[in-house]
Amino acid sequence: MPDDAQTPHAEHRFATRMSHAGRAGTRAHGFVNPPVHRGSTVLHPDCESRRTSAKDRFNRVMTYGTAGGPTHYALEDVICEIEGATRCVLVGTGLAAVTVPLMAYLKAGDHCLMPDSVYGPARNIAGGLLAGYGIETTFYDPTIGEAEVAALMRPNTKVVYTESPGSHTFEIQDIPAIARAAHAGGAKVLMDNTWGIHNFMPFEKGVDVSIQALTKYVGGHSDVLLGSITTVTEEDYLTVRTAASQMGHFAAPDDCWLALRGARTMPVRLKHQEKSGLAVARWFESRPEVQRVLHPGLPSHPQHALFARDFAGSCSLFGVVLQPRYMEADIFRFIDSLELFGIGASWGGFESLALPTTGFITRTATSPDLGGYAVRIHIGLEDVADLTADLERGLATLPR
Ligand SMILES: *Cc1c(COP(=O)(O)O)cnc(C)c1O
Repeated sequence: MPDDAQTPHAEHRFATRMSHAGRAGTRAHGFVNPPVHRGSTVLHPDCESRRTSAKDRFNRVMTYGTAGGPTHYALEDVICEIEGATRCVLVGTGLAAVTVPLMAYLKAGDHCLMPDSVYGPARNIAGGLLAGYGIETTFYDPTIGEAEVAALMRPNTKVVYTESPGSHTFEIQDIPAIARAAHAGGAKVLMDNTWGIHNFMPFEKGVDVSIQALTKYVGGHSDVLLGSITTVTEEDYLTVRTAASQMGHFAAPDDCWLALRGARTMPVRLKHQEKSGLAVARWFESRPEVQRVLHPGLPSHPQHALFARDFAGSCSLFGVVLQPRYMEADIFRFIDSLELFGIGASWGGFESLALPTTGFITRTATSPDLGGYAVRIHIGLEDVADLTADLERGLATLPR
């Protein structure tokens, strides 16, 4: 296999492409994986080539460390394969992948629409920095359709932000309908696609700019923070890339290398975790202590039909709403008693997590009341029988 013949072909399936993407031209001394290229200064052969190369710094001409290097290019290619994108901007965290495109497309006097179920830190920048710069945000019910979004559009609405399913509450959004209304009003559609990853193809559904916390399933081992912003038009790429560059955003090559390693096994992990997640979600549904399970892949989910239409599958993050008779102290005792579930925020790793979410849910356009105390569950790579046995022991600590 020649070194430059490793670019995947379009007809290859996802797992094949994840094994081969980003490897063309990267082989050093015959080794399978590329080395990590660390660097700040890039030396130029002469002054004239330094002058002319600067204009191509967003186009894979190595001019300075922040313009990126071979380790970035390899990961960018892999991320584009995951989402069906053409260009990718890598940044140091998933949160930076949220804030950079917001700052790129919004200016003083503009208006932004954000779903009420948005990731908390996205709400924070809307009410913080963006508000301070004279940008107004309206929060909308995440389940509304084309007509309702159209009614919320103003002449100065420049961004319609989306995230599906919503953080903590897992509402599925009708992205194609929202995108039609946004585009008719001249706004860009940004989407946080961290939950959907490869199971939701954003650009086929009308999204202009897709956001991923690579920290989650791409990294996959709870050892790296990283974010990606992907686009399909050159114009959108340059808008996002220019903003990231002006603000000095950067992704460390060592972290990119870890994400690259994670991406190689992600298709297998994701499939396995999807199956285990659904099994545990169904187990929760069968328990009398549980009022409802917030998992879009279950037929009981209110937007399950929309999920089935737009998603090829699910990941292993979902919510569980317990019966209203339990108090916070009961829920804390239940979670504290679990042996295999860590109490932590980030997800997509190999290990299972359980997190109380009531009290962390802010809603201003819709009701935050889920009718009972909510727990967010992430299912890792452990054996499902061990996980449900642990959960069964934990639920037994709840008052009768
Ligand atoms: C975790 C997360 C982020 C942010 O990722 P970090 O790398 O932790 O900054 C953004 N969006 C969603 C939906 C997330 O779950």
